[in-house]
Amino acid sequence: MTAKKPLPSDLESIETASRDEISALQLQRLQWSVRHTYDNVAAFKAKCDAKGVHPDDLKTLADLSKFPFTTKLDLRDNYPFGLFAVPRTQVVRVHASSGTTGKPIVVGYTRQDIETWAQLMARSMRAAGARAGDICQIAYGYGLFTGGLGAHYGAEKLGCMVVPISGGQTEKQVQLIQDFKPDILMATPSYTLVIAEEFEKLGIPPEEISLKIGMFGAEPWGEGMRAEIEKKLGLDAIDIYGLTEVMGPGVACECIESKDGPVIWEDHFYPEIIHPETGEVLPDGESGELVFTSLTKQAMPVIRYRTRDLTRLLPATSRSFRRIDRITGRSDDMLIVRGVNVFPTQIEEQILRDPRLSGNYQIVLSREAHLDQVEVRCELQREISFQLSDSEIVAVGKELQHHIKTNIGISTRITVLKFDSIPRTLAGKARRLIDERPVQL
Ligand code: ADP
Repeated sequence: MTAKKPLPSDLESIETASRDEISALQLQRLQWSVRHTYDNVAAFKAKCDAKGVHPDDLKTLADLSKFPFTTKLDLRDNYPFGLFAVPRTQVVRVHASSGTTGKPIVVGYTRQDIETWAQLMARSMRAAGARAGDICQIAYGYGLFTGGLGAHYGAEKLGCMVVPISGGQTEKQVQLIQDFKPDILMATPSYTLVIAEEFEKLGIPPEEISLKIGMFGAEPWGEGMRAEIEKKLGLDAIDIYGLTEVMGPGVACECIESKDGPVIWEDHFYPEIIHPETGEVLPDGESGELVFTSLTKQAMPVIRYRTRDLTRLLPATSRSFRRIDRITGRSDDMLIVRGVNVFPTQIEEQILRDPRLSGNYQIVLSREAHLDQVEVRCELQREISFQLSDSEIVAVGKELQHHIKTNIGISTRITVLKFDSIPRTLAGKARRLIDERPVQL
C-alpha cells in the first residue's frame, strides 16, 4: 500500500477553511437553495405553506429545522419530473435510483450540476490519494445508476485515464487489470471481493496486482470487509458515500491519510442528524438518520432529504468538514429479531473476525412455530476450504454462533459452506438478506 497523501497545494481552499468561513458560505447557499426550491417546485411550496414557513424565515443555519422534510415518497409522488426546479429543456441528464427499496425515482441535472458533480468526484478521488495521470478502472455499473457515470466524469476531471468497463465480466476485469495496470479501482465492496477471488483463482498474489487505491461504496460495509479487501488486493480501501437523490457518488469520501469515515463536502451539502421517529435534530456525535439539504443543485434541489441511512456526525480531522461514521445500514435494512435490532453489517463484522471465513454471506429469515429464525450462511476462504475436516467446519460455525450471540444478542443457525457456494452479485448491490417469512395479511 503505497498510495499518497495530498500536498496542501492539491487541496481547494475551502477544504481547509475555518468553521466560520464554512458556516457563512453554507448560510448564503442555503438561503439561495431554499428560495430557489420554493419559487420553482410547487410540491415544496405547498409543504412550506402548510407548515407556515417561508424562505424569509431562514436567518441562521439552525432555522433550517423549521422547514419540512423531503422523503422518497415525495420523489415517487412527483415521478418523473415533478420536482425539477428549472425548465425541462435545461436538464441535460437524468438518472434513476437502482430501486433497492421499491420503485425507481428519477433525478435531473443541469450542465452546471454535472460540472459540480464531476468536481466533487474529482475532489473525492484526490482525498482517496488519486492523482492526474493515474489509470482508473470503473467497475460500478453504467446507465441509470449514478455509480458508473458519476465516477467516470470525476476521474476524467481529475485527469485520470479511465477504463469504463462497468460491472460484471469478472475475467475481463482481471485481464484488464493485468494488462493496463490501473492504479485505482472503483466498485461496490461486494463485487470487489469477486474480483479478488478471481485473482486468487489464477494464483496471482496481491504484490503482483497493480492497484493502489480502491474507492468502494454504494452499499454498507465494515472494517472487517476493509481489512479483507486490502489483504487480498494489496491496496488502500477508501469508503465513498453518496445517493442518487442528493447527487450520486461523491457526497462524502474518506481521506487516505486518516481513513476515519467519509468527509462530507459540506460546501455543497448541509447535513443534519435527526431522531428517526420524532424528526428532532440531534447534536453532533449522536446516532440517528442522516438528512441532507443540497446547497448548489439547480435542476433538482433537495431540502432536508431523509436518507434513511443511520449514522452520526463526527468532528473534522483531515479536512475542515465534518465526517460521517460508517453507515450501519438503512432503517429499512434493520431486522428486528425477537425484539433485538440487527443490521446485516453487524453480522458481517462477526463473520470477518474469523480469518477462515470470507466476506460472502447471506442472512435468511424464516418463521417456524410463529417465531422468526435467522440462518447465517457463510463461506470458508478458498485456501482452507478443502483443508478442514467436517468436525472442524462444525466448530467454525459454533464459534461464529457464539460470537453473534454474545456481541449482538441473537440466536442464529449457522451454515458454513465450502468456498464459492453463495451466489455472487456481479452487477449492482449485494443482496445479503433473504426473507422467506410468509407475508402478513
Ligand atoms: P438505491 O436507493 O436504489 O439503493 P442509490 O444507488 O442512490 O440507490 O443508493 C444510495 C444508498 O446506498 C445510500 O442511501 C446508502 O444506503 C447506500 N450507500 C452508498 N454509499 C454507501 C457507503 N459508502 N456505505 C454504506 N452505504 C452506502
